[in-house]
Amino acid sequence: MNITIHKTTMPKPVPQDDSKLGFGQIFSDHMFIMNYKTGSGWHDARIVPFENLSLSPAAMVLHYGQEIFEGLKAYRDSNNKIRLFRPQENFKRMNVSAKRLVIPEIPEDIVLDALKQLINLDKNWVPHSDGASLYIRPFVFATDPFVGVRPGDEYLFIIITSPSGPYYATGLNPVGIYVEENYVRAVKGGMGYTKTGGNYAASLAGQAEAKKQNFAQVLWLDGIERKYIEEVGAMNIFFVMNDEVITPELQGSVLEGITRQSAIELCRKWGMKVTERRISIQEVADAYKAGTLQECFGTGTAAVISPVGLLKWGNMIMEINNNKIGELSAKLYDTLTGIQYGRLPDEFNWSMMID
Ligand SMILES: *Cc1c(COP(=O)(O)O)cnc(C)c1O
Repeated sequence: MNITIHKTTMPKPVPQDDSKLGFGQIFSDHMFIMNYKTGSGWHDARIVPFENLSLSPAAMVLHYGQEIFEGLKAYRDSNNKIRLFRPQENFKRMNVSAKRLVIPEIPEDIVLDALKQLINLDKNWVPHSDGASLYIRPFVFATDPFVGVRPGDEYLFIIITSPSGPYYATGLNPVGIYVEENYVRAVKGGMGYTKTGGNYAASLAGQAEAKKQNFAQVLWLDGIERKYIEEVGAMNIFFVMNDEVITPELQGSVLEGITRQSAIELCRKWGMKVTERRISIQEVADAYKAGTLQECFGTGTAAVISPVGLLKWGNMIMEINNNKIGELSAKLYDTLTGIQYGRLPDEFNWSMMID
C-alpha cells in the first residue's frame, strides 16, 4: 500500500520547555489516517496535517462504542536517534482487540511503516530532555452513519502523536492506591483484555471515588468474587513477597501489558522467581501483617514503573516498604528506561530505530 504525504503549510511552533508539556494536550503537526470499507479493505493510507475530522452525528462509534486504541512512545537517544520500544507488540495487541470488537484486522507491517514515516516527518516534535517522549496513539473506530447495533462496514485508522513531559516531574515517587470493592472494571468473557474506550468509561466512577479519598489510582478486583487482584487503571500490578515476584495471571479480564511482559523477562533474566497466578487482596494483607510484603509496583507505558507506597483496602491502609521506592522497582525503572533511551545495551532487541 502506498502512503501519500501531504505536508502542512502552517507548521506549529514546537514546544521548547519539556517541563511544561504535561501529557496528551499538545499534538504534533501531522497524523496518519487510512480508511476501511467492507469490500475494499484498508485503503487511502495518507499522512496529512493534524486537523479536525468530519463525521456524521450518526457515526456508529458515537452510539455503541466500537473503538480500540494503543499507546506507545518514541524516545530520543543521546545520538539524537529516535527509538520505539517493542512497537510490533502494540500492533499485534491491537489486532487482538480488533478481533474481540469485530473490527477488521489491521495490516501490522503497513501501520508500523506508516508510524515510522510519521515520526520521521515530525521528528523535531520528539522531546529532547531525559524522561520526556513522544506519546503515540493509534486508534480505530466505526464511522458508518447508522443508528443500529451491528459491526461497522466503514472504519478509520488514525495515528496521532503528542510530546509528553517526564511522568515523574519530581522524580520517581510512590503512589497511593485504593482497592475498589464496589465497582468492577471487567469480567472474564468481557473486554478487559482489550484496549477499548468502554473499559475506561467503566473505570471512571471508581477512579472518581479514589480521587475523593486522595488516592491516585484504583486497584481493581475480579468482577465475580471481588477477591482476586486484577490491575490498576492503566497499569498491571506486581507484588514482591518473600523474594518472589508475583503478578496476576492473564485470564481474560486483565490487559496484557507490554511493560508487564518486559518486567517479567528482566526479572527472570536476573534469576528471580516470577509467578503469574491468582492472588487475593487477603493474601496481600496477610503478607503485609506478617512482614513479608516487600514491594508493590505498577507497570505501564506511561509511567514505566510506578511504586505503590500506600494501599488502602477497606479500613486497612498498608504502608509498603515505608512508602519508599523498593529495590526491584528502582532497578526495573532504571533498566527499562535505560533500554528505551539507548543508555543500556539492548540484549532483548526491544528497541527499533526509526531511521
Ligand atoms: C495500556 C494498559 C496497561 C499497560 O500496558 P502497556 O503495554 O504496558 O502500556 C495496563 N492496563 C490497562 C488497563 C491498560 O490500558
